[in-house]
Parts: sequence; structure tokens; C-alpha cells
Amino acid sequence: MTILDTGIKVVRNVGRFTFGEGSVSGVCALVDSRRESSTPNAIFLVDEYFSSKKDFPKSLGAKNNDAVHFIKTVDETSTQGIDKLVSALHASGHNKPATIVGFGGGITLDTAKAVSNLLTNGGKAADYQGWDLVRVPGVHKIGVPTISGTGAEATRTCVMTNLETGLKLGMNSDYTVFDHVVLDPSLTSTVPRNQYFYTGMDAYIHCIEALAGSYRNAIGDAYSRETVNLCRNVFLSNDMMADARRSDLMVASYLGGCAIATSYVGIVHPFSAALSVVFGLHHCVANCIVLNAMSEFYPDGYKEFRQMIELQKVELPTGICANLTDDLRHALIAATIKHEKPLTNALGSDFRATLTDTRIISLFEKM
Ligand code: ZN
Repeated sequence: MTILDTGIKVVRNVGRFTFGEGSVSGVCALVDSRRESSTPNAIFLVDEYFSSKKDFPKSLGAKNNDAVHFIKTVDETSTQGIDKLVSALHASGHNKPATIVGFGGGITLDTAKAVSNLLTNGGKAADYQGWDLVRVPGVHKIGVPTISGTGAEATRTCVMTNLETGLKLGMNSDYTVFDHVVLDPSLTSTVPRNQYFYTGMDAYIHCIEALAGSYRNAIGDAYSRETVNLCRNVFLSNDMMADARRSDLMVASYLGGCAIATSYVGIVHPFSAALSVVFGLHHCVANCIVLNAMSEFYPDGYKEFRQMIELQKVELPTGICANLTDDLRHALIAATIKHEKPLTNALGSDFRATLTDTRIISLFEKM
């Protein structure tokens, strides 16, 4: 296989991080250390999962004049949803906060990143979908993941879909990276098992795709290898949710996020994106459904995935593409092949010679 240059020359990592069981108790002091007389108030964006616990944001350090918004996670992030949230923050006078805390899963973390950029750059979220379009640094932001796998806590992007144009693309920018990340494995103890598995596998899948690709970066490869090792520790153990295993997965998620910053995914992600666009499936479960049909392309990864899913007794939705109409077939093909970079990474620039329309559909029909 020819090794290709990723073209990625400069990589920015998270400014600071705090790691360890109980480290979430330090968020309050961290927020207070950012408060100044000119910027006394903070913004807390909290996963709606925590909205049932009364006064939960106060436990993170939220004060009466701070803005607290619970982020809905039924649908993935849209540029329109981000714009609405930014308008609400302007309306409540929270346009120059001391810091923004994003507390939750990938959707909540990505929302915090996008809001941070928009408060200082102005305009609409859709204006910044692409590479290096953010002009000035965003508001200081703190990320606290409550589930492990997507790597959103480490990456320089925030995935959003423009519901008007269908464009699913983040604000890829050095300014999108969190200033401080708090990694506390105790936060993932209550995640439902299936969701814990699907989300954790996102880290594994990113890295097996990157390591099988042609675009390579030596540092990215090292991050990827260790991410895969940690995922094996977790998902090939008897209890993926034991304390030590949840700690392993939180590290895997962070390192996997660092790996993506220097590399590209492969065939799984384009097919998974098509399932998300056409059927509205969430990213992480869609990835697992796709890998389950990819034995020809990733024989070792597939075998290991089957071992993991059986050992952890996790169920995977089936029959997603059982009744495809012509319109759905066309939509699935178009939504898959538009991801040229990852497909080139996996199969070379003539990837359409391998991935013919018929082949693509026969793969979807296995899902
Ligand atoms: Zn992913």
C-alpha cells in the first residue's frame, strides 16, 4: 500500500486537562477562576439527561445570574439550533461570558464549541462550516464529557447539519478546541449499556479505519494504536463498565479524538453518515450497524467487533435497509460517495471501481 501525506502539518491539542475519579468537583473552582468584574457570568450547557436532577447546574458552580441551558439530544446538532441558542444568550445578556461549560455527550460538547466561536465571531453557524473559517478565538470553554467514545472533547471540530441545505460539516478550526477538559470516569457509571457500547466503539472504529488507510501520520498512528489497545481492554473484558474499564474508555476516547485530528476515517464512516442522513440514525449506533456488514473490508476489525458485542451481550438493530425503494437507494448511494477523502484513504482515488452502485446497495442490504 502506498502511504500518502495527510496534508495536516500543524495540530493543536486541548490546552489543559484534569483527569481522575472525582475531578468533576473541580469544575466550580475552574469556572470561578475565570470570573472577573467585567465578565462576572458564565454559561452552562448541560445535557438534558441531567435536567431531572433538581439544582444540578448549581453542583457544577452555576450562580443565579449565569445562563443555564439544557441541550436536547434526540436529534443531532443543527446550525439552526445553534443560531437559536446564540440568540437566546444575546437576549439574556450573556454575550460576553467568563467561560462556557459544556457538560454531556458529543452533541452537548459540540454545541458548547460552536456557541463559543459564534459569540466572538458573530454571524450564523452556517457561515463557519468548513476549514479555518473562524476568524478570532472563541470564548474560553471547558468540556466535561459524560460518555466516552466520540472524542468530541479532543477534536478541532463540532459536527452540525444545516437542515436547509443538508450539509453536515463542522467548524474545523484551532479555535474550536476546548481550553480545558475535565475527564472524570465516575460520570459514565450510569450510561445505559447499549449506548455505552455504541459510543465507545466510535473510538475503536475511527482508529481501525485510520490504521488501515493510506493517509498516515506517525503521531496519529501512535494515538490510534493505543486507542485500539484500550478499547480491547474494555470490550474484551468480562465487564466493560467496571470502574477501571470506564477509566480506560475515557482515555481511549480522548486519544482517539487526538488521532482523528491527524488522520482520516475509512469506509465505515461514509456508510454510517448515509444511514444518519437517510434514516436519522445516531452516529455511533449507525457505525456499529455498518461495521457489522463490513467483513470483506475490515476482516480483523469485524471479527473482533463480533467477539466484543457477544461478550458484552449488546443488541444491534437489524433490518434497517430491508425495504429499500429506488429513491432510498439513490439517496443512500449519493450520501455515501460524497465522502471522497475517507473513501480514497481506504480504497484509493478510483474507489468507485470497487464501490459500484450495486456493491454499495448490497452492503446496505446486509444492515
Ligand atoms: Zn465517528
